[in-house]
Amino acid sequence: MHFHVITLFPEMFDSYLGESILARAIKEKRIKVSFYNPRLFVTGKYRKVWPDGNVSLQVDDRPYAGGPGMIIRAEPVLVAVVAAVKKIKSKPARLNGSSRSGGKAKIKIINFSPSGKKFDTAYAKSTAKKYTDIIMISGRYEGIDARVAKILKAENISIGDYVLTGGEVPAMVLIDSISRQIQGVLGKYESLEEERVSSSEFYTRPEILIHKGKKHRVPKILLSGDHKKIEEWKQRGK
Ligand code: SAH
Repeated sequence: MHFHVITLFPEMFDSYLGESILARAIKEKRIKVSFYNPRLFVTGKYRKVWPDGNVSLQVDDRPYAGGPGMIIRAEPVLVAVVAAVKKIKSKPARLNGSSRSGGKAKIKIINFSPSGKKFDTAYAKSTAKKYTDIIMISGRYEGIDARVAKILKAENISIGDYVLTGGEVPAMVLIDSISRQIQGVLGKYESLEEERVSSSEFYTRPEILIHKGKKHRVPKILLSGDHKKIEEWKQRGK
């Protein structure tokens, strides 16, 4: 799976993708993440060269009909997406890997919006299965000119009912949860066959934990060795 993130702040991803399971998945080439910064695609009157030689590249502008905050302009975002698509199309077919895609890229374009369709595990699973490349557009400020999502026929996706300052954390959330669905990303230590054994309660050593003088035990059933009963316990309340 190749993720393509359209973002004004690509450095925000470095630490999250640079550690643990996702870093390993990238190193083992199970996933790949590329960045496209709309600021680098700013042209025309929004590109100003000052007398001292400094260049300012303005990605945003004021909203029509007024309102607070600034809106990211459509043009640099669209050009960044075109650059991502071009990169995808220029990849040799073998990099799209799976026999499923027959070597042909299958592209999905996602636009982040707090009012979009709610992201969940089912969505992560079907996306991991269907596509070879996911382009994600992360907004900032008051958001991106609405024509971008319309022109690209992008799917508006929300990660929850709250408003964040930008779409970078949502992009990381999708990269993380979609990658977990890709074969080989979870090693044998982390693999958890979600449907079968999923439980929100886990315990490890010691069997008796002493905290502030009080003993906290591991539920007896988990020490019983009775797999059927343990399975029932894990599935309780589902
Ligand atoms: N003015 C907008 C909020 C913009 S928040 C509104 O009222 O709807 C700025 C950016 O953060 C958005 O463009 C989007 O990319 C991202 N964002 C914020 N909250 C999000 C959420 N819950 N899910 C997905 N993306 C979100």
